[in-house]
Amino acid sequence: MGSGQVTTSVPSGQSEFQGRRVTVAGLGVSGVPAAKALVERGAIVTVVNDGDDERARAQAAELEALGVTVRLGDGATLPEGTELIVTAPGWQPGKPLFQAAEQAGVPIWGDVELAWRLRGPDAAPWLAVTGTNGKTTTVRMLASILKAAGLRTAAVGNIGVSLLDAVLGEEEYDVLAVELSSYQLHWAPSLRAYSGAVLNLAPDHLDWHGSMDAYAADKGRVYEGNQVACVYNVADPRTEDLVREADVEEGCRAVGFTLGTPAVSQLGVVDGILIDRAFVENRYKNAQELAEVADVDPPAPHNIANALAAAALARSFGVPAQAVRDGLRAFRPDAHRIQHVADLDGVAYVDDSKATNTHAAEASLAAYEPIVWIAGGLAKGAEFDELVAASAKRLRGVVLIGADRALIREALERHAPEVPVVDLDRTDTGAMLQAVTEAKRLARPGDTVLLAPACASMDMFTNYNQRGDAFAAAVRELGA
Ligand code: ADP
Repeated sequence: MGSGQVTTSVPSGQSEFQGRRVTVAGLGVSGVPAAKALVERGAIVTVVNDGDDERARAQAAELEALGVTVRLGDGATLPEGTELIVTAPGWQPGKPLFQAAEQAGVPIWGDVELAWRLRGPDAAPWLAVTGTNGKTTTVRMLASILKAAGLRTAAVGNIGVSLLDAVLGEEEYDVLAVELSSYQLHWAPSLRAYSGAVLNLAPDHLDWHGSMDAYAADKGRVYEGNQVACVYNVADPRTEDLVREADVEEGCRAVGFTLGTPAVSQLGVVDGILIDRAFVENRYKNAQELAEVADVDPPAPHNIANALAAAALARSFGVPAQAVRDGLRAFRPDAHRIQHVADLDGVAYVDDSKATNTHAAEASLAAYEPIVWIAGGLAKGAEFDELVAASAKRLRGVVLIGADRALIREALERHAPEVPVVDLDRTDTGAMLQAVTEAKRLARPGDTVLLAPACASMDMFTNYNQRGDAFAAAVRELGA
């Protein structure tokens, strides 16, 4: 993939930071623990932060007490003498701070790179997952499978527990199930996971990465230096291309997952059974049953794909088939991800508020039929033609909410002119009750009312959780 060797003036290893001038870019979830870890190792740390609000000031006070210098309201100027930058993952590569760093030959690491470099010599290997959609679900399934195999593990990374906390904490692990965003991978040039997976690739965050190619290349870093398996999605050939482009350890194999019958070196599905033809003796002749489709909650097609990817990573680590089944059975999805809320008058109400982009919404629309679809919000530059064209035949009706609903309405006019559409001309939080009332009116027994907005929520709600909660509350109100 050509990321090459990392050349840096700051050698790795815990004591190597002694006396080094390190700039931490961005307070917050990753910046505060990074600054603390560096100062504990003797670095001279300056934190720069764009914002200067109450929360930032509280965090600054905490760090200043430890001897960290904090500059609030100026994230653009490179502090003099900086030898290394450790950045929050969300900071965009083109920022003036990074331009100055590049001109001065100063290396830039993200929080994941720092964690990778700070892990001890006997540290647990990482099984790493990235992709446009399904990361959190897959990593949690993977952790559940690894636990079922009796391994000490945790789901970490872009998922609540930071990698720094996992790597530097007291707890000992045999293996980590790691979720990595494209931003984190961008800033983690020397990361070498034991096995890695790219679940899928659809346009997302392109404003940050600059282009689809740059986005894909950052995702593909998850395969760099893999030791045992690069796990790719057979249905998404770009993920396999990324495997081909990666530099991996000798003997590392490309392992595909598919919802169809698996070829050699793949995991797939035959007659409702999840099958492994990759991690078995004599894979040209043999296959291993892992679990049933019904063991996966919910058994929607994209979620079976997530389960297969998790199983592939676990199997690459030597986990027995039975632990895959037990781990999948024990797994329960997080809230707002295809969450069944209630049945009213023979109609199922499902909350997939986490479907914040068109690729995710298309996957959840493919899981039901007929559907009354509640959609809309902030489009983030997305186009809806492909999604609507692919889902049109499943739609009983559509209720549109949110700021950019006209974009979806226009796509419906083009590709599904016969489907009834209710366009709610309001963006206040209370609009959800009206949306669900309209959806109930359109639905017939046997239908599913599906909240899969294909848009971000921030025009009407604080976040996708609040949007999903509003949906569930409305459903309960109508059922009362
Ligand atoms: P991420 O961590 O990548 O955002 P999640 O596991 O939280 O992914 O799932 C987010 C949403 O993406 C889900 O609510 C669902 O709509 C959709 N989704 C999950 N898995 C997949 C997949 N394999 N392919 C497409 N969409 C998916």
